[in-house]
Amino acid sequence: MKKMKSFNIVLGLALSIVSCGSRAAEPVKKKTPPNILVVLCDDLGYADVGFNGSPDIITPELDKLANNGTIFTSAYVAHSFCGPSRAALMTGRYPHQVGVPFNLHSNSSEADADNMGIPTNEVFMPKALQKEGYYTSAIGKWHLGAAPKFHPNKRGFDNFYGFLGGGHNYFPSKYQKQYANQVNAGAKVIRDYILPLEHNGKEVKETEYITDALSREAANSIKVAAKNKKPFFIYLAYNAPHVPLEAKKEDMDVFPEIKDKDRKIYAGMVYALDRGVGKIVQTLKETNQFDNTIIVFLSDNGGNFDHGANNYPLKGTKGDTWEGGFRVPMFVHWPAKIQRGQIYKYPVSALDLYPTFLSLSKAKLPKNKTLAGKDLSKALFEGEDVYKEDMIYAVRYRHGYCDVAGRKGNLKVTRMGNEPWLLFDVEKDMGEKKNLGYRYPDKMKEMVGEIANWTQSFVKPLWYYSAMDELLWEEGRMPNFKETFEVNKLNQTASKK
Ligand code: CA
Repeated sequence: MKKMKSFNIVLGLALSIVSCGSRAAEPVKKKTPPNILVVLCDDLGYADVGFNGSPDIITPELDKLANNGTIFTSAYVAHSFCGPSRAALMTGRYPHQVGVPFNLHSNSSEADADNMGIPTNEVFMPKALQKEGYYTSAIGKWHLGAAPKFHPNKRGFDNFYGFLGGGHNYFPSKYQKQYANQVNAGAKVIRDYILPLEHNGKEVKETEYITDALSREAANSIKVAAKNKKPFFIYLAYNAPHVPLEAKKEDMDVFPEIKDKDRKIYAGMVYALDRGVGKIVQTLKETNQFDNTIIVFLSDNGGNFDHGANNYPLKGTKGDTWEGGFRVPMFVHWPAKIQRGQIYKYPVSALDLYPTFLSLSKAKLPKNKTLAGKDLSKALFEGEDVYKEDMIYAVRYRHGYCDVAGRKGNLKVTRMGNEPWLLFDVEKDMGEKKNLGYRYPDKMKEMVGEIANWTQSFVKPLWYYSAMDELLWEEGRMPNFKETFEVNKLNQTASKK
């Protein structure tokens, strides 16, 4: 009896130590908001990272993070190309609802125009975090407006290092010479890809390969935040592996077995990015912030198979509404909170990052802010399907018609321009090979109708690619709206084929 009692005491003590341990950890976590690092790649293909099964490109640093976190196999972005996708990330809204479904013009004089940028009444994600005491830093590609009022420093970033346009050449020794030649020749308009980089509005003379420079600056931001004892939000927007295809020789030499020229350069560019992430992780560890940093890795749109990318097993390419256009590689890593080695197969959207970060940092929703995405907390902590009966959309305007898609559960409806509507089970059939539209016509009609209803929330674009695009606009919604959603007529046409 006595023995049993002492055993119980020992057991009780052990349990209280365990529970004390977990109780003691909680308040610390509550008082210490998580750091957030978003690593956004540009045009990275679904199959161009080791953790998604790339057959030829190795990404050891990314794989370590992915395999020790949660890999999202059905992650979507809100648009199938750069500018609108990034606008969605920052505003938490579909680009069509903000009037920015087109890329900004890359011509620098037009890009400076006062209306060419994401409307300033849309509060960007970093602004909300900045108000909570976060040190906020944007590194790399901006592409959300080049006029002063759209500058990253005006949109919630304490620090900005990078370039305002839609892309950039990678070797300073080359582009700086091109730029100087054009300035000396009196050029009035200089392409944004060769403009000098800047740091908080001041021109800098970068010397490193751009991907290395951006990795370096992200690591510096982590050090600045640590020194000032502030939580950080870092938006690291690599322009890699977007064109121009330019890689360092030593990075290409990692892939002697790749013979295709474009693929080899592309692989070197991805490898440089992976190296950079490795250095950033090292800095996080050196500053003791690795465990409490949420790292989100994703691409802004699908890979471009004309420029070295591989979206296998997905069909399609950057710019369209096949899965390869807007389903992207993604993982979340957060040792303090997330179990290692999880795979989350339900759909999620880049639109979810805004509400998720607000929730995890306990930041306030900006006044009058509308968000289209969902808080992913339950997906991260409990593996719950957060979309269930809700749809993820994609609409891409072409000249006079649209590519459209909607994903709900395992199912997806899509149409490319004047082709018929199609229905796929994209969980089982990621390559969109087997059209289920004939088998489930009512389901297809219902989903198409849901997309048509959603377009009621669209506003007129603030700019277009051309005057012709503006003329093709209809009902303030989209070009060729009525025909786009005539599912019966198109289905009959398809049946006759
Ligand atoms: Ca892109």
